[in-house]
Amino acid sequence: MLSMSSVSSDHIYKILRDTFGFDSFRENQEEVVQALIQGRDVFTVMPTGGGKSLCYQLPASLMDGTCVVISPLISLMKDQVDHARHLGIPAACLNSSLSARERSGVLEDFTGGQLDLLYLAPERVALADFSSLLQRVKLCFIAVDEAHCISEWGHDFRPDYLQLTELRRLLPTVPLAAFTATATHRVQTDIIKRLNLHDPLVVRASFNRPNLHYAIFPRENILRQIHQVVREQDGEPGIVYRLSRADVDKTALYLQEHDIRALPYHAGLDGGVRQQNQEAFNRDEVQVIVATVAFGMGIDKSNVRFVIHGDLPKNMESYYQETGRAGRDGEKAYCVLFFQRGDMGRLGYFLNQIDNEEERRAGWKKLEQMVSYCERSVCRRHQILSYFGEEYPRDNCGGCDVCTRGVEEVEATTEAQMLMSAIYRTGQRFGATYIIDIVTGARTKKILELGHHRLKTYGVGSKKPKAFWRRLTDAMLQHGLLRATGDRYPLLQITPKGEDVLFGRQPFTYTRLIHPEQSQEAARKE
Ligand code: ADP
Ligand code: ZN
Repeated sequence: MLSMSSVSSDHIYKILRDTFGFDSFRENQEEVVQALIQGRDVFTVMPTGGGKSLCYQLPASLMDGTCVVISPLISLMKDQVDHARHLGIPAACLNSSLSARERSGVLEDFTGGQLDLLYLAPERVALADFSSLLQRVKLCFIAVDEAHCISEWGHDFRPDYLQLTELRRLLPTVPLAAFTATATHRVQTDIIKRLNLHDPLVVRASFNRPNLHYAIFPRENILRQIHQVVREQDGEPGIVYRLSRADVDKTALYLQEHDIRALPYHAGLDGGVRQQNQEAFNRDEVQVIVATVAFGMGIDKSNVRFVIHGDLPKNMESYYQETGRAGRDGEKAYCVLFFQRGDMGRLGYFLNQIDNEEERRAGWKKLEQMVSYCERSVCRRHQILSYFGEEYPRDNCGGCDVCTRGVEEVEATTEAQMLMSAIYRTGQRFGATYIIDIVTGARTKKILELGHHRLKTYGVGSKKPKAFWRRLTDAMLQHGLLRATGDRYPLLQITPKGEDVLFGRQPFTYTRLIHPEQSQEAARKE
């Protein structure tokens, strides 16, 4: 075994190659590895998939003593342990899923100095007999994964993580390394303070993916819309994400029927079929894989040229991770999301099944941030980076729909009044689809049965397409003129702010992206 600070760069690279099978470090990895080998505290922010594990696994494998890794999720721990063992690094975990026998086996290995990595759940640290055990075994350093969980300012605060504030006092000579994929500067300061890191090396990898172009379109006829994007990609490989298995199957079938080589991928498929489909995609035998979001672990493909979201992702972290599978080779790639506010109800329905109130509320907050990302006419890159606590230095990123299309202000008082009048006259008891049917004068059975074709507002908006009315409804929800109540099938109600517009006391204007045709026309005129 090597003692600290005497490890040469050559030796580190040899381990990188021989143990991990990589030729070079990714951005910031080497710095972190060096600092840990020198016994320094470290604070690291890296995007998910950026390669955090290597930062502690590599030093752990060559330093004296065991590296204790604190990790919040049992399922994650198991994957990490399997992965480390697969690389030939002695690793184990201690958590509530182990039998008494397995537990004592792990403890024996740990106290006997047999382990390079020991994964622990945070609550274990504070157990009196366990902390005295930690004090007796030789440790090289402690890595705190998902370190933002220690901060109430973060988006994923876990009370168990507060136990970790004791680490420094319990183990004053053991270096501490904090890792997270998301931390604003406020959270960063909080983490450093709570863990009591001493003059840590602070490394913040950028979340910016300059080669990814982001765009959002209103969802109308989703299968046709997806097909159109795929067709524009000239046979290049891509991933389509759908929320439900049924929609995955439907989308894959639709694409196949339109001569696109596409396959489905979701947990409902037989394991063998799933594997085959994934491999066919990895080997470029099919152009498109249509998947539920669970897909991803097995994607080992650097030339994914586009990622389409047919439904709203549940939060910005998922969106970032899923779009992040595009363009790993650094070449340009396209990320498009088809957005409809109604998805909020669908996702919210799942959130409402969560028993733990704190978790449920946090889930809703994240969902609202996701919706706000879609609805605001603000540079997408700006929004993504600021969500992860990073500032983007330029006004125009040149790589998103907002920046390339530009925004315009629209006056829509009369149209908003038409819509609200239909809502008002039907007693504020219907959802957007039905209200829009009335305004556009659709002759549906339900309208005829309820006699709503006799309303004054029936058909007043028939000159404009339904898509226009849908977008207007979304804008009115976004600006608080309307409120959607009920979770699965939201009903529209008029707010006091909406009444001001309905009764002519206030105008209604909103900003929207300039339509591509319009901007082309504008370009021709110049
Ligand atoms: P994180 O924990 O930050 O989400 P991981 O540690 O799981 O990310 O790493 C993500 C992926 O990147 C893994 O597949 C890993 O093998 C790969 N990876 C990590 N470091 C390197 C490297 N230096 N070169 C190539 N691939 C790497
Ligand atoms: Zn932009």
